[in-house]
Amino acid sequence: MRTPVIDVAIVGAGPYGLSVAAHALGAGLDVRVFGKPMRAWEQHMPRGMLLKSEPDASHLGDPDGRYGLDAFHRYAYGEPVPVDRFAAYGKWFRARAVGQALDESEVTAVDTEGGLFALSLSSGESVLARTTVLALGFLPFAHRPGVVAALPPSACTHSSDHHELSAFAGRDVTVLGAGQSALETATLLAEAGAGVRIVARAGALAWNDVPVHRRSIMSRVRAPRSSLGSGWPSVAWSRLPGAVRYLPEQARRHIVRTTLGPAGSWWLRERFDGAVAVNLGTRLTACEQRDGIRLHLKDASGAVTTLDTEHVIAATGYRVDVARIEILGEHLRRQVASSGPAPRLSRGFETSVTGLYLVGLAAAATFGPAMRFVCGCDFAARRVTAGLVGRLRGPRRATRPTAS
Ligand SMILES: Cc1cc2nc3c(=O)[nH]c(=O)nc-3n(C[C@H](O)[C@H](O)[C@H](O)COP(=O)(O)OP(=O)(O)OC[C@H]3O[C@@H](n4cnc5c(N)ncnc54)[C@H](O)[C@@H]3O)c2cc1C
Repeated sequence: MRTPVIDVAIVGAGPYGLSVAAHALGAGLDVRVFGKPMRAWEQHMPRGMLLKSEPDASHLGDPDGRYGLDAFHRYAYGEPVPVDRFAAYGKWFRARAVGQALDESEVTAVDTEGGLFALSLSSGESVLARTTVLALGFLPFAHRPGVVAALPPSACTHSSDHHELSAFAGRDVTVLGAGQSALETATLLAEAGAGVRIVARAGALAWNDVPVHRRSIMSRVRAPRSSLGSGWPSVAWSRLPGAVRYLPEQARRHIVRTTLGPAGSWWLRERFDGAVAVNLGTRLTACEQRDGIRLHLKDASGAVTTLDTEHVIAATGYRVDVARIEILGEHLRRQVASSGPAPRLSRGFETSVTGLYLVGLAAAATFGPAMRFVCGCDFAARRVTAGLVGRLRGPRRATRPTAS
């Protein structure tokens, strides 16, 4: 069964998809957003996780600013937001700002048909849309180091594969990585009764400072707070993501890599210390599956050791690559211009395919580190909506999904 042609199809109902939907609906566009609301937060982050971002950096965006996190629940500065409460907030936001425009079907494919986008749904239906916004989040880009790629899922998983860690009680688990995800996953595993160690290339673990509620004027001037942490550069990248787009590509890459780099939250440190063994300054060079898994490790001096474990969790982050957006038909995917693996986007988040937009992590290489976090939702949703309105109602109305 085919539905009538809609103006805007949004794929993904996480913070970015829901925020774009709220803004586009506010602009009077005919919108449908696809996917289970907040699925990534409910199923692909560990139970018991706390948000690293401050409450004030965790608002979804709607045109009147009525449905920020604080309208759902007022958290104090420095008070961590539990992941299940944040997912509940996203659903609360959806009920108020998006309403019936949500369809919980997954999108299985996006292609073109007769100058429109054709979306195939898990329900078996298909939908035609004049424009499409991909708000796919981080899941398509989960990165596993090549050295563990040959291990089967029973032996090695990515941190985003897990929600329930209690299944690891009594088992020996090795977590690769030294960022928040690695440190928190390891801590929650230990608390669930697993024997856990971290293996990381970093020579030392970094931890964020405990937030100070009352700061001197000098300290506030020297290092003002922002939704991306303290300091003037963070203020600039969080408040002016539109300006980041005009920086040279190498500078943008550097900013994305170094802003809020791998570090554990202040509130995690006490729980981590003593509960998790650490093996730092170590590179995993090879692994093989026997009864369990044998890891071959090389330290900074070049010394090689082996380590036996029952399961490896790669908490090794996410790498954006247009080639990994598997729902895009091959022909369409090949038309999306990129710089390296990252898509090239216009000031309105449009790809080189007319009418096809990308938001969230996939836009970080263009608009900077704010796009990796919830704090970038409102900016992205406003810009995309302005672009959609221009495409659908303005003089550039022709929306054939062809490369421009
Ligand atoms: C462990 C972890 C902790 C984090 N903690 C924080 C934090 O504290 N603060 C913060 O600001 N950011 C945090 N982040 C980053 C966070 O992921 C992003 O800020 C946020 O998820 C971006 O929202 P999004 O809508 O782009 O992506 P997502 O939340 O990933 O939403 C995208 C949605 O699209 C859906 N989807 C994908 N493909 C399809 C399809 N084909 N059809 C239908 N639906 C589809 C997915 O299921 C998903 O629900 C964390 C990330 C991780 C991995």
